[in-house]
Amino acid sequence: MVNIHQIKEEICDMGRRLYNKGFAAANDGNISYRIDENRVVCTPTQICKGFMKPDDICIVDMEGNQISGNRKRTSEIFLHLKIMKERPEVKSVLHCHPPYATAFGIAREAIPQCVLPEVDIYMGDVPIADYAIPGGDELASTILPFIHKSDIIVLANHGTVSLGPTVEKAYWMTELLDAYCRILMLSRQLGKVSYFNKEEAEDLLKLKGQWGIKDPRADIENCELCANDIFRDSWKETGVGHRAFDPPRFRRNDPEPCGCVSNPILNNESVSLEKQNDKNADQEALIKAITERVLEALKK
Ligand SMILES: [Zn+2]
Repeated sequence: MVNIHQIKEEICDMGRRLYNKGFAAANDGNISYRIDENRVVCTPTQICKGFMKPDDICIVDMEGNQISGNRKRTSEIFLHLKIMKERPEVKSVLHCHPPYATAFGIAREAIPQCVLPEVDIYMGDVPIADYAIPGGDELASTILPFIHKSDIIVLANHGTVSLGPTVEKAYWMTELLDAYCRILMLSRQLGKVSYFNKEEAEDLLKLKGQWGIKDPRADIENCELCANDIFRDSWKETGVGHRAFDPPRFRRNDPEPCGCVSNPILNNESVSLEKQNDKNADQEALIKAITERVLEALKK
């Protein structure tokens, strides 16, 4: 039997954590937890998530009708309920606006894999869902296509939605993603992002399998291990691509050791700064060599 008061306290606790982390300014964000077949505990609307008390927390049925609580339930509850209906094992849904992850959703930049081992194991490829007005039905329809393949989704020009068996585990996904996005941006600022090589990427995928953690890459024959091909079909509509980051494009089971299987969409979309610099350096060297030869010929 679930202790409802304890769940309400846990929601307040997680609200404090996400507010203190800067994931929800002012009254942003909402959190829910399914206590049984037909009841869900959730945060109220128009409240700062950092200062909630258990008495502020509402209970609704699976259609979103309020059963109890002094305050009005969040307007985003329908999104939470749709996710819970679609994935009955999911008990908690958490929505907020973590700045670094949200920045990827605004830049429509695919979040590369093959950078940090823990991230690849516990999170995997993260989709970016198309923009929709908050609080409406449309928002749910942009997210639902992804929820069977990822426990966290970035919402374009908005924030994130994460799912889990407990409120804390749903929160962890958000914290993990935002920390990762921050590290990616910092390392890019330093000038170079190093990715795992093919062997290292394959070893992690293998380890993930041994630990019983599902990864959609394992179901795709010859998938690109680091370059986000799990959700690439959605990129056309959302305008997502690799512009700031240029992950390696080797494929699983690819006999070639390098990124020899090229992807025309990616190749057109992203010419990395590093590659461009290399190209410029090559051209300069060639021009210098030719000039030297001409000058030598003239001297004779
Ligand atoms: Zn929001």
